[in-house]
Amino acid sequence: MTEIAVTGAAGRMGREVLAAAADRDDITVAFAVNRSSVAEPISGVAVDSSDDFAALLADYEPAVVVDFTAPDSTIDYANACAEAGVAFVTGTTGFEPSQPAALHAASESTAVLKASNFSRGVAALRLAVQEATAALPDADIELTETHHNAKRDAPSGTAKTLLDDIEGVRDDLNDRVHGREGEAPRDDDEIGVHARRAGDIAGEHEVLLGGSNETLSLTHRAGDRSIFAEGALDAADWLAGREPGWYDFFEVIESA
Ligand code: NAD
Repeated sequence: MTEIAVTGAAGRMGREVLAAAADRDDITVAFAVNRSSVAEPISGVAVDSSDDFAALLADYEPAVVVDFTAPDSTIDYANACAEAGVAFVTGTTGFEPSQPAALHAASESTAVLKASNFSRGVAALRLAVQEATAALPDADIELTETHHNAKRDAPSGTAKTLLDDIEGVRDDLNDRVHGREGEAPRDDDEIGVHARRAGDIAGEHEVLLGGSNETLSLTHRAGDRSIFAEGALDAADWLAGREPGWYDFFEVIESA
């Protein structure tokens, strides 16, 4: 049984994590926090304010913190976990380029696993995209992601991960063009990136590879957020008790 704490517990993902944890017999929730406390328990768990997070870690001694919040708070929670020697799983996205260094620094003192997407289908999509990119070295590549209307960051963290994967295979592609307007002919070194926001869509990512007389489209659609919560809890269970260091969701998948 892995004892976890949940941050951002009243957010969309925090609620999913608490609901998924309640249904699992390998995970128990030691405590849950939100920026401000919440009157009613969520999935049977009381949600405190995170004002004295370090004290809560010291009192409850969870094995792992599972975090889906926002970049600044994720770094604060990671630092508190590093101080307390508590493993840290985060799915937060939208970091400024300078920010992940702080998470890497925390991983010198505790185990840290960060993933822009905790879906196993997206992990499979990443592998398929890398293979297709290598197999079609002349293709024009365009990426489109679609999310709910309250998503803060664009393009999504998953889109950025897919772009990194594509650029890792095709070093001739080094210009991410975010949408097009007016006279905007395509250059050979571009990857077009398109972010749509509508309704309550949990997350869709399409990578389109266009060549002469043929196109290949690779698409993942999340049915609901529970897949991300289950993946994050799998990661927490796997990370508990590991040495300080930086870990990857592929390691969790490969261990199963
Ligand atoms: P949300 O806005 O519904 O919830 C965010 C929670 O974080 C809220 O409870 C909010 O109170 C809390 N929070 C925000 N700023 C805070 C601060 N400064 N201090 C303390 N708490 C703070 O968002 P969401 O839809 O649950 O998404 C959260 C994050 O997870 C986003 O970055 C999103 O992109 C990401 N996400 C990742 C995955 C994945 O698989 N990795 C899946 C879905 C969402």
